[in-house]
Amino acid sequence: MLYRLNKQGYEAYLVGGCIRDLLLGNVPKDFDITTNATPEQIQKVFRNCRLVGRRFRLAHILFGKEIIEVATFRGEHESDNVKVNDNLARRSQSGMLLRDNVYGTVEQDALRRDFTMNALYYSAKDFTIRDYCHGLQDLQQKIVRLIGEPETRYREDPVRMLRAIRFAAKLDMSIDPKTAEPIKSLAPLLKNIPAARLFDESLKLLQTGHGYTTYQLLREYHLFEQLFPNLAKFLAKNNFHAGAHKDYIERIVEQVLKNTDYRIANAQRVNPAFMFAAFFWYPIMEQAQMITLESGLQFNDSFSLAINDILAEQCKITAIPRRLTTIMGDIWRLQIRMHKRTGKRAFAILEHPKFRAAYDLLEMRAAIEKGELLILAKWWDEFQYTSPDKRVAMVKQLAKGSKHKAKR
Ligand code: ATP
Ligand code: MG
Repeated sequence: MLYRLNKQGYEAYLVGGCIRDLLLGNVPKDFDITTNATPEQIQKVFRNCRLVGRRFRLAHILFGKEIIEVATFRGEHESDNVKVNDNLARRSQSGMLLRDNVYGTVEQDALRRDFTMNALYYSAKDFTIRDYCHGLQDLQQKIVRLIGEPETRYREDPVRMLRAIRFAAKLDMSIDPKTAEPIKSLAPLLKNIPAARLFDESLKLLQTGHGYTTYQLLREYHLFEQLFPNLAKFLAKNNFHAGAHKDYIERIVEQVLKNTDYRIANAQRVNPAFMFAAFFWYPIMEQAQMITLESGLQFNDSFSLAINDILAEQCKITAIPRRLTTIMGDIWRLQIRMHKRTGKRAFAILEHPKFRAAYDLLEMRAAIEKGELLILAKWWDEFQYTSPDKRVAMVKQLAKGSKHKAKR
């Protein structure tokens, strides 16, 4: 692809994450190309090409099964001596870039990138790496360093704060003090980011194998509370009304992230619905209890209302898609249903497509809450693995037990 662009007389480089990862000896997730050809010119060079994006226009080129992103060099924005068409570049009150489609040279493009290690360019013309921002040195010293003045760069795009954390955790790097310093105070700027983008970013942060370390950094830099305020309010220090659930929430969040990291390390599949179901289980219980107290509704009704409340609030911040919230609802409702096992109930629950996930959450809760829940989780553990005959016997045994209780 680089050659194709070169042959047509354009400059072209591999850039960003792929160069960084190759230099670190990791396998790149994807390859990004940057060039002085405009999107329209790129489209003329490649047949399987689609132009995408508004805030940041670029070309997607189909390469076998993969999509390669080809972006035109970004240039400088408005300054005292440059006036830029407002269709190409736009900024909000907080300094956020709403459009970033001003084109420039490769040197200018380097300055528009986020971190020094992400501004390394590989040329197929002379097989060299161009390093305009001392990225090689930072990469070697394992330092995450923003290019330019940190506060301005975070205001342009607040997601860069999350990216700093993500790279520090994933690549086991430290964040340069000047890059780290403004994060805590600018964290609230994440409120201006569209919920769909924050959802994507939250998965990259928590579901790509370094979730636990990332979570700790997000807490440290006050970013977690921006992404998950309904969790963070229970985690906050000196919070008296949080009660017993505070400790539970802290532990279940840590546990589900450790489990997810473990599964990814062992090439097992992970479903974000499970992580979110574990995250919000205790907040939902807390909310359901509150609704019951205030309105006198039956627990089941309060529980449904609580699910709605918590999901609605969270989706405003990170747009969790419907296909996931449906599964989360199933996992939550099964937590309640798993208590009632007599008659045909236990068999119906076992047949439920989300039984396994629901059981996993039950087991996690049992390890945290102890007591009766440990007995219940053990029962379900036995029930799912035993023979059909034994299952019938197990349910009969329950009926006996409850009659016994009733007599007493
Ligand atoms: P990974 O793909 O492993 O998450 P990456 O560095 O490739 O990491 P991408 O989101 O694929 O991240 O972006 C590719 C490149 O585009 C980055 O390396 C960086 O140079 C530039 N870039 C991405 N997002 C931003 C941003 N918000 N601000 C400035 N530059 C960015
Ligand atoms: Mg990438």
